[in-house]
Amino acid sequence: MLSLEAALDRLLARAHPTSAETVALADAHGRVLVDPDVLARHDVPPVANSAMDGWAVRSGDLPGRLPIGGEAAAGGAPPALVAGAAVRIMTGAPLPAGADTVVPIEDAKEEGGGVTLPAATPGTHVRPAGGDTRAGTTVRLDGPLGPAELAVLASLGAGSVAVRRSPVVAIVSTGDELVAPGEPLGPGQIYDANSAALAAAVREAGGRPLVPERIADRADAVGAALDAATAEADLVVTSGGVSVGRHDHVRAVLEVGGGVDFWRVAVQPGKPLLVAEHRGTTVIGLPGNPVSALVTFELFVRPYVRALLGLAGDGRAHPRVTMADAASKDPQRRAFLRVRVGPDLVARSAGGQGSAQLRPLADANALLVVPEGEAATVAGAAYEAILIGAVG
Ligand code: AMP
Ligand code: MG
Repeated sequence: MLSLEAALDRLLARAHPTSAETVALADAHGRVLVDPDVLARHDVPPVANSAMDGWAVRSGDLPGRLPIGGEAAAGGAPPALVAGAAVRIMTGAPLPAGADTVVPIEDAKEEGGGVTLPAATPGTHVRPAGGDTRAGTTVRLDGPLGPAELAVLASLGAGSVAVRRSPVVAIVSTGDELVAPGEPLGPGQIYDANSAALAAAVREAGGRPLVPERIADRADAVGAALDAATAEADLVVTSGGVSVGRHDHVRAVLEVGGGVDFWRVAVQPGKPLLVAEHRGTTVIGLPGNPVSALVTFELFVRPYVRALLGLAGDGRAHPRVTMADAASKDPQRRAFLRVRVGPDLVARSAGGQGSAQLRPLADANALLVVPEGEAATVAGAAYEAILIGAVG
């Protein structure tokens, strides 16, 4: 059985970033820049401007009553400041030549064509040119582009950006017992929990899910599904059929094809994880139990999808937390317990830790990492946690 590190190293060695494509800035949310270092071609802001509605003046003329010498509004060229006068100025309007200070409207008293202003330090309420970003500097935007990153790119004038093509990830759920949610359940049948869950996890990781029909537990059906999925996708993720049962055909088909890289990793849940190549495409075989499938997705598929986007790691915070509960585990494997971490960074078990117990996973906001060699958590001891949801 491989350690998590050894398995992850072997898996990630197979990942090569996808090609580049150009998209409009408006379509770039969640995408990843091919080159995260963006060159600023001009100052942001382009010219000095006012941070307040008020009066643009020369600070040396203050305090005093000054005549009003015109108006500067946002989006136009301002009048020049006549020495000893004040220009009415709006937030965002370019600073008139000669002015060095803005006095807010609240501090001024306007009457009879003049305005009375208190003393002010030079530069007050002035946003200098390049005060946010100087022309010629590089701005690092590494990671999926969120609202703030899009605002920075827009301020730099980028109408379109070169991003990684979103990796297509096929989700192949196998099992004779599986029924699509919404359909009636027959005897012995259960609802397919993995197709929807894994597709959502693919999207969260930055990929584009492709979800074909559920596949029956027959070697020919599994083989045909793998042929079709590997032809279309950058990565194929299967669920079920990788354990040691008589009807675990995913592993059997991949073994017959000679493409199995490794099988079984010392993690709990998720031991039967399998990595293979089929027709030139990487296949990650996840166990069918929904908790095992989602936890192994987090540990293996998410970093792989990110590697296809040129991103390192899992993109999660890994704080040290204090575990409040004692929970047992397999000493041979590293456990990833479903826990709820509070703002005080104290973790509590989110419920039963069985690999088919889905609701504790939905209640959890973190996976508590308990090392190999330990048979249980020690209440009050510190552990690494992988945050998969908001703390609270
Ligand atoms: P397997 O890995 O195929 O041996 O399946 C292990 C367990 O997970 C069995 O109890 C299956 O019924 C269950 N299972 C497999 N696939 C799914 C799925 N897509 N949704 C819900 N449960 C599943
Ligand atoms: Mg099965």
